[in-house]
Amino acid sequence: MSDCIFCKIINKEIPSQIVYEDDEIIAFKDVNPQSPVHILVIPKEHIESLNDINSNHSDLIGNIFITIKNIAEELGIDEEGYRVVNNCGEFGGQTVSHIHFHILGGRKFSWPPG
Ligand code: AMP
Ligand code: ZN
Repeated sequence: MSDCIFCKIINKEIPSQIVYEDDEIIAFKDVNPQSPVHILVIPKEHIESLNDINSNHSDLIGNIFITIKNIAEELGIDEEGYRVVNNCGEFGGQTVSHIHFHILGGRKFSWPPG
């Protein structure tokens, strides 16, 4: 998707602070962090939102969550805990239409989120 900002990050057309990359996944620092650690984990495939995943994406989604766990370990937030967020669609607060998972750590969060 030529007009997708996250596809541009994947293609290195715009800069980002990448913390992990493999054939199908890339993770980078959120440009507007909401916590001391704020990482976005995305598939390289342009999938618009959680509404667009299907059984063909089972391995991909599983690998994304394993990657999330590994990044949390590497950044040292696994013991104290962290939050993983997917915002889906307008009411979910999604602003970038390329599926992404936020890793938020380094501070304590409350529930419900409001
Ligand atoms: P969401 O509201 O769930 O769609 O989250 C989109 C996130 O992307 C926000 O937290 C933004 O701060 C982040 N973001 C937007 N543009 C960039 C960028 N160029 N590099 C890193 N993060 C970005
Ligand atoms: Zn995209």
